[in-house]
Amino acid sequence: MGATPIPNLDVIIIGAGLSGMYQLYRLRELGLRVRVFEAGTDVGGTWYWNRYPGARFDSESYSYGYSFSKELLQEWDWSEHFAGQPETLRYCNYVADKFDLRRDIQFESRVKAAHYEEESRSWTITLEDGSRFNARFLITAIGPLSTPTLPRIEGLGDFKGASFHTARWPKEPVDFTGKRVAVIGTGATGIQTIQTIAKEVGHLTVFQRTANWAAPLHNGKIDAETQKKIKAGYPEIFARCQETFACFVHTPDTRGAFEVSDEEREANYERLYGERGFGIWQGNFKDILIDRKANATISDFVARKIRQRVKNPEVAEKLIPKNHGFGTRRLPLETFYFEVYNQDNVELVDIKETPIERITTKGIKTSAREFEFDIIIYATGFDALTGSFDKIDFRGVNDARLKEKWKHGPQTYLGIMVHEFPNMMMLMGPHTALGNIPRSIEYSVDWVTGLVRFAYDNKLTRLEATTAGVQSWTDHVKALGVGLLSNEIDSWMTGINSNVEGKQTRIIARYSGSAPAYRARCDEVAAKGYDELRLG
Ligand code: NAP
Repeated sequence: MGATPIPNLDVIIIGAGLSGMYQLYRLRELGLRVRVFEAGTDVGGTWYWNRYPGARFDSESYSYGYSFSKELLQEWDWSEHFAGQPETLRYCNYVADKFDLRRDIQFESRVKAAHYEEESRSWTITLEDGSRFNARFLITAIGPLSTPTLPRIEGLGDFKGASFHTARWPKEPVDFTGKRVAVIGTGATGIQTIQTIAKEVGHLTVFQRTANWAAPLHNGKIDAETQKKIKAGYPEIFARCQETFACFVHTPDTRGAFEVSDEEREANYERLYGERGFGIWQGNFKDILIDRKANATISDFVARKIRQRVKNPEVAEKLIPKNHGFGTRRLPLETFYFEVYNQDNVELVDIKETPIERITTKGIKTSAREFEFDIIIYATGFDALTGSFDKIDFRGVNDARLKEKWKHGPQTYLGIMVHEFPNMMMLMGPHTALGNIPRSIEYSVDWVTGLVRFAYDNKLTRLEATTAGVQSWTDHVKALGVGLLSNEIDSWMTGINSNVEGKQTRIIARYSGSAPAYRARCDEVAAKGYDELRLG
């Protein structure tokens, strides 16, 4: 089938989440013809798909929204310090309406293949329905955590009750009243789900494989006075986000954990534990994520908190991670999560002790017993960073396959381009700074927009990362990971997903340097006229 004739399409964007929406806005400003292809029925990406109970930010709302439009900042009121998913999805819709984005977005259009054609120096994408579209540039905005994975457990399809993956939650509310519910998975998603539905269920059984550290979110409503201050303070808020390591508002501590007395350290941890948001992770002593002994001090502190909060000592011990230190996996933030285990109708099953053998028609069978449920919730995470790329058949020069090229881990130039994949740019792909993600999105979109503008201004029709450029960036990303305690533990951040074939070996797919350093490097490339790229 030939490409569907849309004359003069300059850019195809895959995905209408926060990245795709802003990229569309920016490219339209250049007067380019752009079309976005989105699998969902509406905008929002992560916030469109993750409708599970309790889904919400753990970046401060006012630091999360787009910063590019002063008008938008002044018009939009965040109701809570950490907004829930329904509000964030409303925000995405508001942005789409305000900037009239939907007229260039084609919904219910999942891209299954994207092939580069050398002769025309262009990309042709194929949708699941077989229709094809062609454009000079291809921009992927497919998200680092957007391909959900179900556990590889026998009998998954046998269960006769209702079952949901958290990232494929139905649009209609699920009624938990009086129901026997199972949750598998205790990452950031599982924790938010568990603490929310525990208030409604008849009985809840949590199947935990690895205990995760978590710290209090301390959410609250934003009152009128604070709202005013936030709106007046946006320039300072965003300036601060630009300065910090991962674009959060929390100011990093410049001291090491042992540069203060034991009493001061304890008081500091107490203060951070009582503060809103990621301060305990992003604003903690500078060495807790690299020095085992420093890390042990905060891990011990949080373990004591868990023991105080969970009444049954045996359950408390199960909830305290033993195989990794505090903050070495992506830290979930919680709201009375640990107290859930003090409820009579909540049970914690450690599936390292009694593994799940199979899903049955009635529930879940472990090595110890069979449980019966009305609902099973899979909070089992994502094929992160590279998973969404693996799902699309990307082919570059001479039919080179991206999946093959990345089979031992991604190889990228600045996390944005790939050798042999000319004219393709990735937003929030592997090897880019993530952190407080909209801040990183705005930077990357602006950088990519600058590159596209440069191409049109200079009548360039082919932009390609060189092998040397890719090698050097990939080596740099690997070097940044050396010595980080987070690289010594399995998690999506180290490329592990027990449910995906071939993803049992740790890889460096995540940029772990600072956002300011990342931006400085990308700025330098742009300032030098992108001369590290092969331009034609
Ligand atoms: P996750 O962190 O990968 O957690 C998945 C959970 O499922 C883990 O507890 C994992 O156990 C368990 N699991 C996976 N396969 C299993 C199996 N076969 N049997 C039993 N247990 C299994 O995924 P997530 O919680 O969805 O979070 C992913 C990321 O999304 C977060 O780290 C965060 O970056 C983002 N997120 C953000 C927010 C927010 O901003 N508020 C909220 C939610 C998520 P193991 O640990 O043993 O593998």
